[in-house]
Amino acid sequence: MRIIVTGGAGFIGSALVRHLVLERGANVLVIDKLTYAGNRASLRLCEGRTGFAFLQADIADGSRMRAAFSEFAPDAVMHLAAESHVDRSIAGAAPFIETNIVGTFRLLEAARAYRDTLAGKAKDAFRFLHVSTDEVFGSLGESGAFSEKTPYDPRSPYSASKAASDHLARAWWETYGLPTIVTNCSNNYGPYHFPEKLIPLIILNALEGRLLPVYGDGGHVRDWLFVEDHVRALVAALERGRPGETYAIGGRSERRNLAVVEAVCDILDGLVPDGDGTRRRLITFVADRPGHDRRYAIDASKIERELGWRPRESFEGGIAQTVRWYLDNEWWWRPLRQGVYDGERLGLLSGHAASRSASSRSASSRPTEGEG
Ligand code: NAD
Repeated sequence: MRIIVTGGAGFIGSALVRHLVLERGANVLVIDKLTYAGNRASLRLCEGRTGFAFLQADIADGSRMRAAFSEFAPDAVMHLAAESHVDRSIAGAAPFIETNIVGTFRLLEAARAYRDTLAGKAKDAFRFLHVSTDEVFGSLGESGAFSEKTPYDPRSPYSASKAASDHLARAWWETYGLPTIVTNCSNNYGPYHFPEKLIPLIILNALEGRLLPVYGDGGHVRDWLFVEDHVRALVAALERGRPGETYAIGGRSERRNLAVVEAVCDILDGLVPDGDGTRRRLITFVADRPGHDRRYAIDASKIERELGWRPRESFEGGIAQTVRWYLDNEWWWRPLRQGVYDGERLGLLSGHAASRSASSRSASSRPTEGEG
């Protein structure tokens, strides 16, 4: 297959590209703007391989997208390019509107124009997979789970922009017959995760003996999925999903944020003890994120039933693998910590800045957890 992967230099996109190129022998054109979150080092294993090509471009640049489609002649698009960090969306929403909404619109239009040049089987088989998040559904109470039938209720600029792009993808199917498929996935974790997000941030801070900031009371619940399981779900949705359909993807691994941070501390203590006792001593509660959704959980029974997908990795296995990967791959994360994101707190509004305790005050200017 010939597949355009947008956002292929990001966390999930690069895992997808490594899978497609190295394990499935697909022809892949990565389209990526290389924002702060894009990193060609994440594609090092693919560089120079037959079937791998890279185009640095903005998905919101309609004429470049149209040219890329006609030159590469894809069978499918897997659209992951996005601004993805909730805290950054609170600090400044403009790039989220530009990329997630306008960029998706331009990409849909380029795909539609290209597909109109096809005929017969090639036209019927063309697919546009739009990769989205469970955050579009809002926040859950103590029980229940999001499914494909859950009404949209986004709360942050990030999730609102993703919700808008989901609606565009669906409308392009209903209105123009462009065969779009939408996936809404829970929180991912794994190797090559940009260290502004909770798990890599905690791993690296803990390694350096820095404070481990946890928002609010640490009781926010996320459903964690190992990134390679997400990648297999995306390929299943592309190959076997039905156009116009949505698939909710999740790991059935709900964890409170505090439990996730404690798990990272315990694994690091086992692998690289620092001689000062457990790293749990570094955990510090800081002011909560404005509008922080309390709980997400996914009912993934549709994709399990219809496409035969199931996560292979348990949370315990995946988190241990992830911690070991960061220990073994300082070449990847060190330049990011030093040159791209040094860990300042993002997304606090005035009035929210006060920390919850004396000890947390010293942590509030430190890196913070992220999701998305
Ligand atoms: P990421 O921030 O790690 O990567 C995003 C990539 O998109 C980067 O390589 C960046 O350079 C690129 N990009 C940004 N703006 C662009 C533009 N205008 N044109 C071209 N490229 C651009 O994000 P991620 O965590 O890998 O997420 C990928 C997708 O999956 C996103 O659409 C996100 O909403 C969705 N998603 C993420 C999660 C998660 O837990 N990380 C969960 C569910 C869904």
